[in-house]
Amino acid sequence: MPHYIEPTKVSVKSVEQLTQDVLGIVAVKPDGIRYLPGQAVDVSINKEGWTEEARPFTFVSLEEDDTIEFNIKTYPEHHGMTEQLITLRAGDELLIGEVFGDIQYKGEGVFIAGGAGITPFIAIFKSLKKEDSVGNNKLIFANKTKADIIRKDEFERLLGDNFVNILSAELAEGYEHGYVNQDLIAKYAEPGLQYYYLCGPDPMMDTVMSELKNLGVKPEQIIREGF
Ligand SMILES: Cc1cc2nc3c(=O)[nH]c(=O)nc-3n(C[C@H](O)[C@H](O)[C@H](O)COP(=O)(O)OP(=O)(O)OC[C@H]3O[C@@H](n4cnc5c(N)ncnc54)[C@H](O)[C@@H]3O)c2cc1C
Repeated sequence: MPHYIEPTKVSVKSVEQLTQDVLGIVAVKPDGIRYLPGQAVDVSINKEGWTEEARPFTFVSLEEDDTIEFNIKTYPEHHGMTEQLITLRAGDELLIGEVFGDIQYKGEGVFIAGGAGITPFIAIFKSLKKEDSVGNNKLIFANKTKADIIRKDEFERLLGDNFVNILSAELAEGYEHGYVNQDLIAKYAEPGLQYYYLCGPDPMMDTVMSELKNLGVKPEQIIREGF
């Protein structure tokens, strides 16, 4: 059972619009916080009526950074917590709770992300870059349109041809089209790439899991988290 921790109040330092619906939020780092690349934390807004509405978000910063950072997709149509984040400004406060999460780097592999499911991989690739061990890791990033791709330049610089974009709602030169399927995965899976890292919305996760099974990938090779 997770033990209860009193959430820590932190002040927001900046809020940036990364795409039409994704915010980049930087906040003061809570004293003594420990987390690994790929881990998430329960976050709520310290504002009347919202302090109990915690949602999980993944650190895109690294533990040793001076601040904590999140990239958050907002869903105004849910009328939930992420809609409230749209009005968040520098100086507002967040409540940071329990750190948790199933995604951790185990070795070279194919990373498959859908939309905001890229966030654990942002932190993992930052830490690989820092350790100079990006190696032959591949990233397949699924989005609806080009405009939805977050941190595109950063991943292009880091991964070159090992960064593959697939768009479901736009045809564009140099981009794969449709949904992630076994043919696409097989195209980039090479001998020596032992692991498959998977993060995205549940319907995408279900499809990709069955495609990986068709390719003969064993459950112990798959590291995953549903958003
Ligand atoms: C471990 C973990 C880490 C995560 N990290 C990140 C991250 O770094 N960045 C990020 O952007 N997201 C992340 N997520 C996802 C994020 O937590 C959710 O998107 C967020 O909780 C949604 O909050 P909300 O208040 O907008 O919606 P909620 O009101 O909490 O709605 C939750 C769910 O209810 C359903 N729902 C509710 N209302 C509607 C509606 N009107 N129409 C359709 N469906 C609806 C949807 O299935 C939705 O996903 C993470 C999730 C997990 C589990």
